[in-house]
Amino acid sequence: MAGILCRRVQLLGRRIAHSVCGSQAVSHRWQSSAVDPLVQVPREGAINAPLQTYTEEETMIKEMVKKFAHERIAPLVKTMDANSKMDNSVIEGLFELGLMGVEVDPSYGGTGASFFSSILVVEELAKVDPSVSVMCDIQNTLINMLFQRLGTEEQKETYLPRLCRDTLGSFCLSEAESGSDAFSLRTNAQKHKDYYIINGSKMWISNSEQAGVFLVMANANPSAGYKGITCFIVPKDTEGFHIGKKEDKLGLRASSTCSLTFDNVKVPESSILGQLGHGYKYAIGMLNEGRIGIAAQMLGLAQGCFDHTIPYTKQRVQFGKRIIDFQGMQHQISQVATQLEATRLLTYNAARLKEAGRDFKKEACMAKYFASEVACLTTSKCIEWMGGVGYTKDYPIEKYFRDSKIGTIYEGTSNIQLTTIAKMIEQEY
Ligand SMILES: Cc1cc2nc3c(=O)[nH]c(=O)nc-3n(C[C@H](O)[C@H](O)[C@H](O)COP(=O)(O)OP(=O)(O)OC[C@H]3O[C@@H](n4cnc5c(N)ncnc54)[C@H](O)[C@@H]3O)c2cc1C
Repeated sequence: MAGILCRRVQLLGRRIAHSVCGSQAVSHRWQSSAVDPLVQVPREGAINAPLQTYTEEETMIKEMVKKFAHERIAPLVKTMDANSKMDNSVIEGLFELGLMGVEVDPSYGGTGASFFSSILVVEELAKVDPSVSVMCDIQNTLINMLFQRLGTEEQKETYLPRLCRDTLGSFCLSEAESGSDAFSLRTNAQKHKDYYIINGSKMWISNSEQAGVFLVMANANPSAGYKGITCFIVPKDTEGFHIGKKEDKLGLRASSTCSLTFDNVKVPESSILGQLGHGYKYAIGMLNEGRIGIAAQMLGLAQGCFDHTIPYTKQRVQFGKRIIDFQGMQHQISQVATQLEATRLLTYNAARLKEAGRDFKKEACMAKYFASEVACLTTSKCIEWMGGVGYTKDYPIEKYFRDSKIGTIYEGTSNIQLTTIAKMIEQEY
């Protein structure tokens, strides 16, 4: 165990040295350090530690991402949002730093770090740009994990090194007619000898403009209902597969979201990921983890917005006083800060439960639901606290506000989270 950790840290250390951090990385404190003590203990000693206790590995990754986000992403955020286009240098940078294969085993080119580390990566990126954060989140918590857990050795050897090195993946479940009711999907896969023919369409697929590989949920046995849903690996250049127009969205504008069509797309039987008819199980399982990722994205987004806003309230003077000195402002700021702290604890606890191999479904839904609501509240309040300038594009607050709304929609809407939580509560009594 110690040997593995050591190897991981060495690997990370090399990447950090190669990129941005330097040897003082571990002692460097993040701006919101009041809620971020960066206490370090070995993983095995963390059992009774506060939730915001990080291993050395987690601290190193967190600091590396923070530095990368501030130096390489922050200068591009406004332009990427205005042009609805992710800058290639950002994608390349994420690959170079090993952030697109956080949990992937080093034997496949991954960083070999923990799930919690990938959650910290998503959070740190979202503080600066939630669009970059979701791109990284989908790659780590959905695509890589599906390959790593379900792939045959050949599939892993073919795809994992590319996914860690230079290839984005997309997770393709939703369709025009099947959103919350995801398993009523109509894309179908018909078997012929040793291959399948896929027909249908998908909608709202993140990363699809740049992705090189697509994990497509299609029904290979519609008569069996959702038990026919199967996960197929479809490379971008497959004949009959088309990536449609990019959605013109309210927020997350730099993150590509396209529709896809499958027009007699022929894929070999060997492109089935996992077992025939088990796609629905995989989707449910992965989305449970994915929800912790979205909670981390919303947490980072809200914290990033808050961090931009509080300094303004200390500078802006009205009625001869700084606006942070008004009790009416102080109470609101304290309420939002408390909600942020609660979001962090829910998110980290869900991640730690998952990592400990314990049941985390309810906690993941709660974290995702709560974080999304708090992100909307925080960004809305931050605009109010900034007054007129918060409403303009001269400051980043309005972008955080636009970006926050998606948390209540993707990877299960807030209503769906509440329904799932209620079902689990019912089972407990
Ligand atoms: C920017 C973006 C990126 C996305 N990325 C991906 C992706 O990469 N891959 C992918 O597969 N999908 C993706 N999605 C799709 C996303 O997961 C769906 O939009 C989401 O599941 C909701 O489905 P819907 O939009 O069809 O809404 P609907 O299901 O039509 O919901 C509309 C409203 O009805 C409510 N509702 C529906 N059913 C119930 C119920 N049973 N009880 C109570 N209320 C209910 C919902 O809560 C919502 O308020 C993305 C969407 C967006 C906007």
